[in-house]
Amino acid sequence: MTTKPPDPRIEKMLEDIEWEVELTKKHIGKDRLDPRVMAAMARVPRHEFVPEESRVYAYDDGPLPIGFGQTVSQPFIVALMTDLLEPDEEDVVLEVGTGSGYQTAVLAELVKKVYSIEIIAELAEKAQERLKRLGYTNVEIKVGDGYYGWPEHAPFDGILVTAAAPDIPPPLIDQLKPGGRLVIPVGEPSGYQTLKVVHKDDEGATRIRDVLGVAFVPLTGNGVGKRRSQHDH
Ligand code: SAM
Repeated sequence: MTTKPPDPRIEKMLEDIEWEVELTKKHIGKDRLDPRVMAAMARVPRHEFVPEESRVYAYDDGPLPIGFGQTVSQPFIVALMTDLLEPDEEDVVLEVGTGSGYQTAVLAELVKKVYSIEIIAELAEKAQERLKRLGYTNVEIKVGDGYYGWPEHAPFDGILVTAAAPDIPPPLIDQLKPGGRLVIPVGEPSGYQTLKVVHKDDEGATRIRDVLGVAFVPLTGNGVGKRRSQHDH
């Protein structure tokens, strides 16, 4: 059996993530991420998820444009959000904001099934093709407004939202299993937000922890729109 030599670009990406963890350890409450999450980050070929012209930067620790004004998040944030979700191999999880499908692939490496919702049809189609080509068979993607979750497949062990919401969408809390985790950036759409983790206990009560300041593209769609206009009146 031959072992694949380590890819120096990926090794460097993992070192950058470890460095960011060191810098933020007081906020995130740990000085290393789950080794299974780091191993999944090492396995997913990020260059497959970014446009041709950005491939040289694919393993740099920064976000990259993926078209339609959207971005794939920086590797540290993808790793951190995955770690905060506490994925287990038997878990069924929901992702809101498929984008390029990169975060979807990292989750698919770690859990039994990933359901992912993307509001921009062209991005959803491309992500679906890409994930199929790369051999991910435990992923289902749909085009829609993720604010409302995916009730047909609920409840979920974990829900990960990769766009910023003004507050935590109640349908997502409803669709979380007792014992489940919801990871979501919450705050003003243009500016900084707070990455939050919602834990639902076995009795269904929720506890929210603020983790880190982040900057995400906004969650769009009717769900958030209705919520915003209620706030304005
Ligand atoms: N996870 C993605 C990846 O790895 O490439 C990055 C996601 S990008 C930061 C946020 C994504 O959320 C965008 O693709 C955007 O179109 C999508 N989005 C925004 N509002 C949404 C909504 N209401 N429902 C579903 N997707 C939404």
